[in-house]
Amino acid sequence: MAAEKTQAIVLKVVEFSETSCVVTLFTEDFGKVGALAKGARRPKGPFEGAIDLLAFIRIVFLRKSSDSLDLLTEAKLERRFRSAQRDLARLHAGYYVAELLTELTERGDPHPALFQAAEGTLLALDSGAPLAETIVRFETVALREVGHLPSLDACVVCGRPVAGSRRVPFDMTAGGVLCENCRPGRRGVVSVSGQVIDALRAMGAEGSAGASPSQSIAPAIHGELRAVLNNYFAHLVGHRLRMSESLGGPANN
Ligand SMILES: [Zn+2]
Repeated sequence: MAAEKTQAIVLKVVEFSETSCVVTLFTEDFGKVGALAKGARRPKGPFEGAIDLLAFIRIVFLRKSSDSLDLLTEAKLERRFRSAQRDLARLHAGYYVAELLTELTERGDPHPALFQAAEGTLLALDSGAPLAETIVRFETVALREVGHLPSLDACVVCGRPVAGSRRVPFDMTAGGVLCENCRPGRRGVVSVSGQVIDALRAMGAEGSAGASPSQSIAPAIHGELRAVLNNYFAHLVGHRLRMSESLGGPANN
């Protein structure tokens, strides 16, 4: 049983006993980790308040076999997610980041670039960066990292270029735009405006470096953009993301 050291973001905390809890962490070096934190609920426990939702922490943990929980032995708080005390919309956006990390990644599958992006996103939310853009940018980084960035320039079925027109058919299941030949007979296809495709393309082109997005999303297309992304994530993970409704845009799409 090896003791591993890494940085982590706290995604979920569940009470386990009177004194202990089970934490889900997204770690820099080991991906998602589920660990038992003994004594975490004691007032003067061994983790000194580090087990806090969306906190950025340094940990030492013992890796167990694949089907049992790891054991958290040390956790040191580096930074709390401060939006939690200040702004409900930003708090919800933080929860949404945690939900995306939980749903899109597997235990023990490291994504260091996604970890960096998540850390940068939580910092950006805390420092007042534009909310809608910060989230869409994190979503595009996450999608790229897990290999599901939608095809926006070429037909997702045949690869032929799809020219930017007023509205473009988008296949939610295949994950991208469709050409006129491939459109007929396919299910799960929605019509998406060219501006939304352009906005997604621009966000995707920004890469993951830096904390604040340089693109801005026109308010007129934000609702449609959210509807498309919420729908796409729902297809990807098999259910609607709980926090997606709190991100603005139409509630039921
Ligand atoms: Zn095609």
